[in-house]
Amino acid sequence: ELAGRMSERAVDVIKFFMKQGQMMKPGDVIDADTAELIASEFGHTVKRVAESDVEEGLFNLPDADEDLKSRPPVVTIMGHVDHGKTSLLDAIRNANVVSGEAGGITQHIGAYQVEKNGQKITFIDTPGHAAFTAMRARGAQVTDIAILVVAADDSVMPQTIESISHAKAAGVPIIVAINKIDKPSADAQKVRTQLLQHEVFVESMGGETLDVEVSAKTGLGLDKLLEAILLQAEILDLKANPDRTAEGVVIEAKLDKGRGPVATVLVQTGTLMPGDIIVVGNEWGRVRAVVNDRGEHLEEAPPSMPVEVLGLQGTPHAGDRFATVENEARAREIAAYRQRLARDKAVAKHVGQRGSLEQMMSQLQTSGLKEFPLVIKGDVQGSIEAIAAALEKLGTDEVRARIVHSGAGGITETDVSLAETSGAAIIGFNVRANVQARQAAEQAGIEIRYYNIIYNLVDDVKQAMSGLLSPER
Ligand code: GDP
Repeated sequence: ELAGRMSERAVDVIKFFMKQGQMMKPGDVIDADTAELIASEFGHTVKRVAESDVEEGLFNLPDADEDLKSRPPVVTIMGHVDHGKTSLLDAIRNANVVSGEAGGITQHIGAYQVEKNGQKITFIDTPGHAAFTAMRARGAQVTDIAILVVAADDSVMPQTIESISHAKAAGVPIIVAINKIDKPSADAQKVRTQLLQHEVFVESMGGETLDVEVSAKTGLGLDKLLEAILLQAEILDLKANPDRTAEGVVIEAKLDKGRGPVATVLVQTGTLMPGDIIVVGNEWGRVRAVVNDRGEHLEEAPPSMPVEVLGLQGTPHAGDRFATVENEARAREIAAYRQRLARDKAVAKHVGQRGSLEQMMSQLQTSGLKEFPLVIKGDVQGSIEAIAAALEKLGTDEVRARIVHSGAGGITETDVSLAETSGAAIIGFNVRANVQARQAAEQAGIEIRYYNIIYNLVDDVKQAMSGLLSPER
C-alpha cells in the first residue's frame, strides 16, 4: 500500500527494510513513523493527517431520500423471567417454518426472520433486556419495536418495569403481549390496569400502545401479534437504502472450531454480499459466506436481515458495528488503528487503577488487601521518621499503611518506578518531583501528593483509609 501510494515498486520497499535488518512482506503493518522515514528515504514529501482520519467516511454515509426503501422491523422480546419470552420466540419461529421445506432446519444464530402476509419481521433471539442494554451500551441501537411480555396469570413484575424503562429510554415503541392466556387463572384486564401505573396505556384504556392476548403454548394470538408488529412498523415507516455498501451491528460472535470466527450480524443499511471486505470492531475480513438462520448460503443480505458472516480474521464483540470498505489495505489499516486504540485504552485503564489514593483504597477494599502502600520522600530524615510514626498509629485491624520506600531528597524516576511496581502512591514532604519523575508519573498514572504540614498528610491518608478522602485540594 505504501509502495503504491509512492508509486514505487513493493520489492524496493521490502529491500529497504531488509537493509535495515527487517523482514517484511506485502500486507504487513508498519507504524506511521516508519512509514514517514521510508517515504522520505524514497524522496517523497510526507503529509501527516490525524490518525483517526482512517475512519473517515466509514459510517453513516448520507442517503438520498429517493434511494430509501421500506425495510422489515427488528423486534426484541422483553419482560419478566418466566413470563414466556423464550417460549414466545420459539413459538413464532416454529409456526413459520413449513415442515419439510428445503433448508427448513432452523439454526440458532442469535436472530431470525419470519414472514407474515408477504412481509418480513426480524426477531432478536436473545430474550430479555440484558442483550438490549448491552448493545445500547456499545452505542448500537438495533431494536425498532419492543415486545413486552406479561403473563396473564401473574402481574407486572420488577423486570417488566425495567423493560418498560429500557424501551422508553431508547425511544422504542412497545407492543404488549399478554401471554399465557390459555391458563384458567389468566386475567388480561388486570395486566392492562397494572400497566397504567407504569405509563403504558393500551388502546382499550384510551392509549396508543398495541396489546395482544397470546398463548405461546397453544399458539393462540400469534398471528395477531405479528399483524400488530407490522402495523407498528408501518407507523414507524422504517427505511434503508439497499443499493449501497452494507453497514450494521454484530448480534453475537463466536470462534467456531471448524469455521473459524463466526459473527451474526444485522444488516442495517446497504446489502452485504460474499466477497465484501468489512471492518467490524477491531477486526476485519473478506466475507467468505453469508448464511441465514436456516443454514442457507445467500448471495446477498439486504437491510434488517440477520446473517452469519464467515471469513473474519478475528472474533468481534456483540454490539460492534461493521462497515464495508473498498479494499483490504483500508480494512487492515482501520483494524490496526482500532487495535492500537483498544490497547492504549486497556493500558490507560490499567494504569488508572493505581495511583490515586481514592482508587487505591477502593481497590484494596474489593481485593481484601489490608495494606496501603506508600512511597514517602521528605526534606530531612527527621521529618520522614515523624511521618512514619504517625502513619503507624493509624493502622487498624483492617488496614495499615505500608511504607514501601522512604528517604530524604527530591522525588526521582526511581521512586516512580518503585511506586508503579508496588502499586503505591507517592508523597512528597517539603520536596518536589523532578521533571523526569513528573513525566514518568504522569505516564504511569501514579499520583504524587505534596505536603508541608505533617498533620495534613496524616489526615489525608487517614481519610483515604476510611474511604472518605476529600477531593483534591
Ligand atoms: P422466559 O423466562 O420469559 O423466557 O419464560 P419461558 O419461555 O421459559 O416460560 C416460562 C414457563 O412458562 C415455561 O414453563 C413455559 O412452558 C411456560 N409458558 C410460557 N408460555 C406459556 C403459555 O402461553 N401458556 C402456558 N400455559 N405456559 C406457558
